[in-house]
Amino acid sequence: MVLNVPGWRGRIEAEGGESPVEERIARGRRGPSRPMPSFRKFLEEEIKTDRGPFTFEGREALRQAVDHLGEILRLGLPGRTVSVLKGTQIGMTTVAVGLALYAVHVHLLNVGYFLPDQEFANRFGDTRIRPAIWNPRLSDAMRDGRYKGASSKGLKEFPGGDGSRFLYILGLRDIGNAISLPLDLLIRDEVDDLPPENLAWSNDRLDASKVALTFNLAMGRTPGGGIQAMYEDGDCSVWLVPCIACGGEWALEENWPDVFSGEGEPYLACPRCGARRARSAGRWSPRREAALEGHRSWRIPQLAVGAIHLGRIGAKWRAARRPSERAKFRCSVLALPDAGKSQPIDLALLALLRDAGGYSMEPIPS
Ligand SMILES: [Zn+2]
Repeated sequence: MVLNVPGWRGRIEAEGGESPVEERIARGRRGPSRPMPSFRKFLEEEIKTDRGPFTFEGREALRQAVDHLGEILRLGLPGRTVSVLKGTQIGMTTVAVGLALYAVHVHLLNVGYFLPDQEFANRFGDTRIRPAIWNPRLSDAMRDGRYKGASSKGLKEFPGGDGSRFLYILGLRDIGNAISLPLDLLIRDEVDDLPPENLAWSNDRLDASKVALTFNLAMGRTPGGGIQAMYEDGDCSVWLVPCIACGGEWALEENWPDVFSGEGEPYLACPRCGARRARSAGRWSPRREAALEGHRSWRIPQLAVGAIHLGRIGAKWRAARRPSERAKFRCSVLALPDAGKSQPIDLALLALLRDAGGYSMEPIPS
């Protein structure tokens, strides 16, 4: 018996069907004796933002990804990946911090929270992790960590009756001095342009885990690469807002600026008939089957998040006149990666140059 939460084991065996529950969750772990809150409940009750307790009000579009992450942990589903291609300021980093704390504290897993560089990572523990904790019992349970006798910057330890769990906050650009802590959950935040070998190093941390969950989240800056490529490995869910007046249904970011009405108080308008629509009244729709099994992905633009004022988005759009400013708008607001003028050299560009100048150019064989 692994977990002594009433009703838990039976539910898993009924719904799981992948392998026996002991095999998926055990690894010598003992479950907590308290009832296990859902991830959604944990976020609402234990996590705060600088504006008060975390809430889904105005952030309804985040719920499906949150519930999916919670289900993976609750059922112990192995080897899953979740990727979120996001606009900035939508609240997803708060969700990721909440997931790290939920996994380490409630599910007793080892968690790596990986950021682009060490300076970023060093600040993150003080500015994002600790201030996000609402319940003092949770912050009291966390201390600076030691693993195999060594302390490492960014290592947070949660001692328990049967040993410690760790939350490791690390800048992935500088893995030279990193400790090789085995992990169950890997969170990669804003790591859009890291060297592939560093991403591989982070993946290797999961090798011994029965859970081996990866959660990627970032604003995309690299068309076809980084988080956008990860998103496209998944099932590519988009937020569709229906129009009752004309029966249309729209991915808001793909119809910008036609979905925006700036007359008077700005509102979201149907791009076909102009009817006023609510940004939160949408639904998630996967565009296809995941290219990689067990990989779900969401694209969450600022437009889908009512908590971000539409008037401010409109003002930003009007202020963005140069191509580089428009590109930044598309990345940060629409969650549509746009490299602006700094387009990567791809096959299409090579072909164009070859045709134009008679150059002899070939990609390096891989
Ligand atoms: Zn309409």
